[in-house]
Amino acid sequence: METKPQNSLLKRIQGTSGADVEDLECIICTDLLWKPIACNNCDSLYCSQCIKNWLVKSPENCPHCQNYAERRCSPFVIKQLAKLQFACINQPNGCPEIIGYEALEKHEIECSYKLQQCSGCHLTVLEKELAKHEDNCESIRLTCSECNVTYSRCNASSHTENICLREQLRQFRQNSAAYKQHQAQIIEQQNSTIQSLQQEQAEITNRLTAQLERQKVDIQKHEMKIEEHSQQLKQLPNKFMSK
Ligand SMILES: [Zn+2]
Ligand SMILES: [Zn+2]
Ligand SMILES: [Zn+2]
Ligand SMILES: [Zn+2]
Ligand SMILES: [Zn+2]
Repeated sequence: METKPQNSLLKRIQGTSGADVEDLECIICTDLLWKPIACNNCDSLYCSQCIKNWLVKSPENCPHCQNYAERRCSPFVIKQLAKLQFACINQPNGCPEIIGYEALEKHEIECSYKLQQCSGCHLTVLEKELAKHEDNCESIRLTCSECNVTYSRCNASSHTENICLREQLRQFRQNSAAYKQHQAQIIEQQNSTIQSLQQEQAEITNRLTAQLERQKVDIQKHEMKIEEHSQQLKQLPNKFMSK
């Protein structure tokens, strides 16, 4: 991460061990170099984040020579920076540490003098004291393990056993009402399924009955024709004889 410490590094220098700080400034942010890289054409030094932001707006344009080509920072500069000692960014909150350039980032990530907000009263307290504060803060929300209702610690005494039992009863009623409603829905669905099955069955019966009727009529017609033919057959000899 190329994050730059928020407060001016220059103002927090506690010792230089002979390093010339003026040669170690970034001309973009005018603060001390942070994770520096250099322009290969003019040897200007920049914080890597500063030049990155700069090049987004004007690509390949070195702020000094207008022709940027990146190279690594010289070991000499790294050595000079490493000589510097700083007050922790959390010194105003009481951190007493004096830290070397190379250890600064790690310390400030882990420093226990950072401020944190209490989730109850929203006051800012030191990170290292937050747990102790929240254990006693009257505004911290607590959750009843019996009924899951939440309340501020300062109202804990008003969540009496009586109130808790009533709340549990209310939740029980609410749940059983919801359960009944759910069951009613299931029954309704099943009824409509049965209804549509019955309807389907009735349609099939009607169709089959109609088919059967048509077949009966056909059979009757055939029988009549057979009757007709046999009558004609019976009359045949008579016809011959009458000739
Ligand atoms: Zn810079
Ligand atoms: Zn340049
Ligand atoms: Zn610190
Ligand atoms: Zn609090
Ligand atoms: Zn409760």
